[in-house]
Amino acid sequence: MDKRSRLWFRNEPPRPRRVYMDSRDGLASNLHPMRGSGGAFTMTNLTEPALEELVELARQAAQNSYSPYSQFCVGAALRLTNSEVVTGTNVENVSFGSTICAERAALVRAVSQFGPKIRIAAVAVANLNGLASPPCGACRQMLAEFILPRAPVIFPAADGMCTMTFIELLPLAFEMKLK
Ligand SMILES: [Zn+2]
Repeated sequence: MDKRSRLWFRNEPPRPRRVYMDSRDGLASNLHPMRGSGGAFTMTNLTEPALEELVELARQAAQNSYSPYSQFCVGAALRLTNSEVVTGTNVENVSFGSTICAERAALVRAVSQFGPKIRIAAVAVANLNGLASPPCGACRQMLAEFILPRAPVIFPAADGMCTMTFIELLPLAFEMKLK
């Protein structure tokens, strides 16, 4: 384990919190899984060890990060409904706008590998810097095209690993409905 990995684990390995899946139908704005007592929510069909493994794969992917400008090493792992796992890392560029995040790198790789009909069942994000790194807005919008609305998304937050459903992260994704 290199120095950066030890930094991340300086307290204890990140442990995803319980994963809640809302079992009700309704508007995204009515979903408040983080406030729920559990009664209205059901666990995802992915086991917690499976989600922990996804976090570990994201952390491993972060070790391939190309981030000479920010030194911020991020990895993402996507669990697809076909049970495949695809990882990605952030790839920076001297033309900063050309930089791609780990989540989008993984998504582009998943579509390239398995085709346009993929569906994402869970997402894990990790970084080697011990900092919060929720998926950015651009990545949320791109994930929206392929992810199940109630898929768990696990990411480092300010106070440790956080798990939210995708619909919580992006309740109003842009849609194009042409007549
Ligand atoms: Zn992003």
